[in-house]
Amino acid sequence: MSFALQCHCGTLQGHVDCLETANRGICYCRDCQAFARYLGRDGDVLDERGGTEVLQMLPKHVHFTAGLEELACVRLTGKGLLRWYARCCRTPVGNTPPVWRISYVGLVRDCLPEDDRSLDETAGPVRMRVHTKSAIGEPKPKSTGVATAVVRITGTLARAWLNGSFKQTPFFKAAGIPVARPEVLGPETLQKLKYPERGPAG
Ligand SMILES: [Zn+2]
Ligand SMILES: [Zn+2]
Repeated sequence: MSFALQCHCGTLQGHVDCLETANRGICYCRDCQAFARYLGRDGDVLDERGGTEVLQMLPKHVHFTAGLEELACVRLTGKGLLRWYARCCRTPVGNTPPVWRISYVGLVRDCLPEDDRSLDETAGPVRMRVHTKSAIGEPKPKSTGVATAVVRITGTLARAWLNGSFKQTPFFKAAGIPVARPEVLGPETLQKLKYPERGPAG
């Protein structure tokens, strides 16, 4: 099954196929929260506990058909994930490892206009909750589905590495260079985005 992928203003367009193979989860980590705040979209991308819904899948299932020039990339640190977004309206798109051989994207739900019901029918319900200790408020949500997801993803990654299909990705050019030059955030900016509750230092 193929679903539309689109930024909020409609400039970046594409589709995602094989959504039935995706692993749906919610990540509560501070880095995902910081990414949403960096985009100025924490109010609607994050749920009330600071969680970001992602669909874990192979990048080869993601296709862009228009507006690729608006696809931008940020890294929270020089070693972190590549976090992709649409520059035009700051819609988060997904997170990929910086090394293209590791064939993985955590697509952020926000770029899929699909409603909950049809997503439930295709990709299944949210089965995984990770980094729940970083969730906002108490009590913390229960961590679930991590072991199953790791087993599933590791197998898929290994196959893509061995059969060379990791090269089918819209996020990297040949030779594994990201299609957009990643901006790396400075440590002070990152601290503010990760821990807004601490307020300005000093
Ligand atoms: Zn846009
Ligand atoms: Zn996260």
